[in-house]
Amino acid sequence: MIDLGCIADDFTGATDLANNLVRGGMRVIQTIGVPDGPVPDVDAVVVALKSRTAPVDEAVSQSLAAARWLRAQGAQQLYFKVCSTFDSTPRGNIGPVTEALMELTGAEFVPVTPAFPETGRTVYHGHLFVGDVLLSDSSMRHHPLTPMTDANLVRVMQAQCARERVGLIPQAVVARGAWAITTRAAALQAAGMRIGIVDTVDDTALHLLAEAARDLPLVVAGSGLAIGLPALRGLSPNAASAALPPARGSAAVVSGSCSSASQAQVAAFLSADGSGFAVDPLRVAQGHDVAGEALAWAAPRLGAAPVLVYATAEPAAVQRVQAQLGVEQAGALVEQTLARIAQGLVAQGVGRLVVAGGETSGACVQALGVRQMRIGRQIDPGVPWCHSTLADGSGLHLALKSGNFGGVDFFTRAFTLLDAQAVA
Ligand code: ADP
Repeated sequence: MIDLGCIADDFTGATDLANNLVRGGMRVIQTIGVPDGPVPDVDAVVVALKSRTAPVDEAVSQSLAAARWLRAQGAQQLYFKVCSTFDSTPRGNIGPVTEALMELTGAEFVPVTPAFPETGRTVYHGHLFVGDVLLSDSSMRHHPLTPMTDANLVRVMQAQCARERVGLIPQAVVARGAWAITTRAAALQAAGMRIGIVDTVDDTALHLLAEAARDLPLVVAGSGLAIGLPALRGLSPNAASAALPPARGSAAVVSGSCSSASQAQVAAFLSADGSGFAVDPLRVAQGHDVAGEALAWAAPRLGAAPVLVYATAEPAAVQRVQAQLGVEQAGALVEQTLARIAQGLVAQGVGRLVVAGGETSGACVQALGVRQMRIGRQIDPGVPWCHSTLADGSGLHLALKSGNFGGVDFFTRAFTLLDAQAVA
């Protein structure tokens, strides 16, 4: 019987959430989509969907299928994990999925917060900040698929909801403690607002919210809220919950994220004499076998030192590609190409793979046939090493990095940390 059931709207988001649960001492499995077989005995299962940018109906039906499966495994509480920058399309999908899960679980009130102060995401007066700037002033306004141009989460969430009304639980209330949060939630509910954006400016606020939400059937949050959940269940941090099998094979990085953090990571890797192959989306669109070229390039270079294959580009270059191919087609074309490359790299003996980009990671794990991953130790906030057993029985270590996460030297340090673990 699992205790906590999580539904994440993208793959790296799922890993980010799982990472926080593991850090708190939970044993966690992340599944890719709803499992069709049994999962090992763990404390929490995070079902990773690719529903963030899917059509609304699809996002809702995938999320409901995951919720039904998790509840059938005994999950008492559902955690709908959304992006810490609340990434969503103008039509949803956070609002419609929340409403559908409320109906399924019978939730009378749902707290919502994407905050993760450790990575600079905080909510104040209902506004989401990325570092010290509003979401709408951050680089998220240029995201290729989900540009975020409004930082007011009450307004953003309300615009996505068809039935529910959205209110705010402000910092002044949160600071007074879990009981004050519960009281304000009841007042909002009495006023017809069954969804509440919760101000969360620091980890203390997240712990208080976790406590207040302890008996609620549904919470909607970024990964931050997870830091409060293991302790509420009597668990504490321990090395065993993060233990993975030893790593093998050569090392590679595939990057399809165009976030500013990923751009800096690619630049740092190349300027430190790392080997890199740039995927040109327009050449792919012209019918060139760019995946084949990348794999032929990589073959003689594979070994202990990582090689990098990337489509990562700055906003002006991305816009040029999108203008020619269309936003969705450009995204899909690049994702498919990088996924084929990831598959080819593993076939060539890569056993340690870093993937940068949420959508890109989704495409890569699908192509690799990864169905479940055990979550291991954190590399940087939000990004742990994971281990999966592939269909042929071989093991693959994976780090799936959400675009904006990770320090500038992430593409080298991830492998150093994994190798150090093997020796330890
Ligand atoms: P992040 O985690 O930074 O949001 P994602 O992988 O989720 O990264 O999204 C980036 C999207 O941009 C993907 O759909 C990817 O295929 C697309 N993309 C990557 N490089 C390019 C490029 N050079 N031109 C156009 N689109 C690109």
